[in-house]
Amino acid sequence: MELIQDDLVKMMFWVRVQNLGIHLIGPSWLLFVLSLSGNERWIKPNRVAILYAMAFPFLITSQTLGGANLFHTNPRVNFSGGFPTFDYDRTWLNYLALAYYSLCIFSSIVLFTQMFFRFPHSFRSQIAIFGVASLLPWIGGSLYIFEITPANIDTTPLTLTLSLLIFLVGFYHFGMLDVLPLARDIIFEGMSEAALVLDHQNRILDFNTRLGRIFKEIKLSDVGTSAKELFKEYPALVRFMDDEVGEKMEFSITTENKESFYEAKRSNLFRVGHANAIGKAIILHDITPLKELMKKLEVLATIDSLTQIYNRYSFQELAEAEIYRVERYGGELSLIILDLDHFKLINDQYGHPAGDATLVHVAQLCRRLSRQSDLIARLGGEEFAILLPETSLLDAICAAEKLRAALEQTPVEYEGQRFSVTASFGVSSWKPPERSTFLDLLKAADRALYVAKQDGRNQVWAK
Ligand code: GH3
Ligand code: MG
Ligand code: MG
Repeated sequence: MELIQDDLVKMMFWVRVQNLGIHLIGPSWLLFVLSLSGNERWIKPNRVAILYAMAFPFLITSQTLGGANLFHTNPRVNFSGGFPTFDYDRTWLNYLALAYYSLCIFSSIVLFTQMFFRFPHSFRSQIAIFGVASLLPWIGGSLYIFEITPANIDTTPLTLTLSLLIFLVGFYHFGMLDVLPLARDIIFEGMSEAALVLDHQNRILDFNTRLGRIFKEIKLSDVGTSAKELFKEYPALVRFMDDEVGEKMEFSITTENKESFYEAKRSNLFRVGHANAIGKAIILHDITPLKELMKKLEVLATIDSLTQIYNRYSFQELAEAEIYRVERYGGELSLIILDLDHFKLINDQYGHPAGDATLVHVAQLCRRLSRQSDLIARLGGEEFAILLPETSLLDAICAAEKLRAALEQTPVEYEGQRFSVTASFGVSSWKPPERSTFLDLLKAADRALYVAKQDGRNQVWAK
């Protein structure tokens, strides 16, 4: 309006109209950014009053009439650009107003910079846009006050319009200015879980940095797109997004040959006072350490830690399964148990560690001389067992005899000491239709072993 006027009185009118707003931009802008950046608590009535009071002299002086307009000293029409523009002498008052405006804008820029680094990545482009948009009118205003604009045009309103357009685009494009407060930052980013927020159509609304660390493929630009499409390589997760499946599940992801386990929890999100869910939050908790511990415990529960063969508990489980299989599909199976002879003497003579080494030696020998399908276990102490599927009593006796001879002929070597060890063997066998249990088989082998011991040790007996 100012630009299309050709007489000074009309120009002055529009200049005064503009100045009604111009001097309020600085303090208003600073207050806006303060509340945006989570500093609402700083905003108190007396402080607001001070902020506006500082701009008040500029507002008043720019509104006084004609020659008494202190803010625009010596007003005149300038034709230097080929068309009439409003001109006046810049005085210390104009520079002071610019200084105050600059102070407000730069305080806002500092706040934006803090936000930029403190807020989650998903807000960074939004914050950057706000920062740039708040600098534009400042640049426009400064150029005009220092009289370096082309044709003496006041660039403040022009840059202000441009800034507003940028803001509108920012608002509509991101449209989440109201979820910016710090609380979101603290909770969403600070939580130890990965979080994904979806709307009711499973479009991505938000996610935190932790989620981005698990799913490297997720990007900021995925906000608003289909989560099912993005996570299609994780069918379990996609199924979990829908309400039909339970609210909790476990799933694993393999990246770079490392398997990670997650417990996923899904909860529907409601708007206060509304019954229909507007979306859902999926929270992923990393349970990999727990799974690894469980695996370790499982191994500890099934494998003897000294000899690395099955322990009594898992041997019994596996043997019972084998008995069940034979009962159902036919066949036969045999059991060898062996007990080292005078093992106490080995401990006494060579020391307990040498005794341990002997146990390892025996386990290795048993494994070497057994078939792949045989199950080898340490039943406890210096007692071992071998379950031989599809093996007759006679074949099992042969196998035991082979093992006995090998044990006798293979000395144990431990820290420069060499000594031989022998064992006594008991063998039992079973074949349907006779009924049997693992304990029956064990008892029978045990009785044979007892006879072998009684008869002088280092021999094989069968029931
Ligand atoms: P026998 O010929 O009658 O079987 O005599 P033995 O000395 O082998 O029998 P006994 O059952 O009296 O002794 C078994 C010994 O095995 C006693 C125990 O100290 C030792 N032993 C049991 N478990 C371990 C182990 O894990 N390491 C070591 N070094 N010794 C063990
Ligand atoms: Mg013994
Ligand atoms: Mg014993």
